Amino acid sequence: MELRELPSVDELVRSEVLGRLPHEAAVAAAREALARAREEINAGHDPGDLVERTLAIAARHAAPSLRRVINATGVVLHTNLGRAPLAAAAVDRARDVASAYSNLEYDLRAGGRGSRHDHLASLLRRLTGAEDALVVNNNAAGVLLALSALAEGREVIVSRGELIEIGDGFRIPDVLARSGARLVEVGTTNKTRARDYEAAVGPETAAIVRVHQSNFRVVGFTERPSLREVAGVAARHGLPLVDDLGSGSLVSFGDEPLVCDSLAAGSGLVTFSGDKLLGGPQAGIVCGSAELVALLRRHPLQRALRPDKLTLAALEGTLLLYDEPERAAREIPALRMLREPVESVRARAQKLASLIGGEVVETSARAGGGALPLHDLPSAGVELEPELAALLLHAAPPVVAIVRGDRTVLDCRTIADDEVELAAAAVRTCR
Ligand SMILES: *Cc1c(COP(=O)(O)O)cnc(C)c1O
Repeated sequence: MELRELPSVDELVRSEVLGRLPHEAAVAAAREALARAREEINAGHDPGDLVERTLAIAARHAAPSLRRVINATGVVLHTNLGRAPLAAAAVDRARDVASAYSNLEYDLRAGGRGSRHDHLASLLRRLTGAEDALVVNNNAAGVLLALSALAEGREVIVSRGELIEIGDGFRIPDVLARSGARLVEVGTTNKTRARDYEAAVGPETAAIVRVHQSNFRVVGFTERPSLREVAGVAARHGLPLVDDLGSGSLVSFGDEPLVCDSLAAGSGLVTFSGDKLLGGPQAGIVCGSAELVALLRRHPLQRALRPDKLTLAALEGTLLLYDEPERAAREIPALRMLREPVESVRARAQKLASLIGGEVVETSARAGGGALPLHDLPSAGVELEPELAALLLHAAPPVVAIVRGDRTVLDCRTIADDEVELAAAAVRTCR
C-alpha cells in the first residue's frame, strides 16, 4: 500500500463497522490508526486491515486504564501494584458511603456542621492509646504536616542513620526541607548515641525526629539509642519527639515497631501509613498528644492534605476489624498473606499446577512496603515457560509474575484462593 492510497479519517469512520461506534470515539481511533499506518508505510511495511485496527484502538480507548491485576510476585505490599488489597468490610464501607450522601462533615447529633476528622479519632484513640489522631492522604503528608506545624523556620534533629530514601525518590531530608524546618544531622551512618541528640539541642530546636529505617538495615558495628532514651532527651528540653514509623503495626509482626509501643516510649506524635502493614487504603495516620494533634489540625496545610470520604470509609472499615485482632488477621488480606503457613501456600501452588502444568518450586516472598526488609517469607510457586511472563501482562486480568533466570514463576503467597482459577485461565489464553 502507498501513502496516497490511505483513506481519509472521514472515509474510514463512514465504513459500516466503524459507523456503529460513537462518532467522536471512531474519529479519535481512526486518527491514531492512520498515523501508525503512515509510519509503517514509510518504513516499507504493510499496515494491514485499517478497519480492524481502528476497532482495536477504539476498544483500548474505551477500556479503563487502572485495573485489577493478579499479583504473582510474592511481594505482599507491592507499591507498584497498589500495596494492600482491602478487606471486604472496608470495601463495603467505601461502597456504602460512595454511592449516596454521607455525614462526612455533618454532625447528626447536633444537627449542624461537623468535622471529617471526628469519624475516626475515637477509634484510633481506642486502638493506639493515643490522646488524639488525625488522618491525611499518606504518611509522607503526615510527616510534612507534623514538621510544618511544629518546626517551620526552626530546627529539627535527625540521626544521619535515618536520612533515608524510601522509594520513587522520596527522601526524608527533602520532605523536612519542604516543611520549612532546618535539618540538624547528628551521629554517623552506623552510630548515633543519645548524647549526640543532647549536644545538638539549642535555642532554635523545635523537635526531634526519629525515622524508621524501613527498607534497609545497617548491620555490623551499629548503635542506635532506644526510642525511650531519645524521648528522655526530648522531654528534658521540653521538645516534642516525632516518630515516623513507616509501616506502623497495630498488631505484632516480626520486629516491626508497634504504634502503641512508640507512644508508650514517649513519642509526642507517631506517623504511619494506612496501606502498609495496617492493610487498609492509602492514608497517613498521625496520632499522639491532644495538644500536638490540635496544632496539626489547625495548620493551613491540613486542608490541602485532608483525606476524601472514600479513604475515610475504607480506613474505618479496616480499623473496626482490629477491635478483634483474630478477625483482623483473618479478614485483612495483607495480614492473612503475611501469616499464612507455607504448607497452605504450597497447597495452592499444587492446585494451580494441576490446572496449568509446570513445576511447584520453593520461593521466598517478601512483606514489601518497606517493612521487614531482611525477613524472607518461605513461599511456593509454579515455574512455567520463560516467554509467559511478558504475555501474562496482557491477559485479562493481567498477571504480574516473577522472572527468575530464564523461567517464569507465579508465587502463590500473593494469589488469593479465589484467584487461582483466574490465573489459570490467564495462562491458558497466553499459550
Ligand atoms: C513508606 C514510608 C513513608 C511514606 O509513606 P507513604 O504512605 O507511602 O506516603 C514515610 N516514612 C517511612 C519511614 C516509610 O517507610
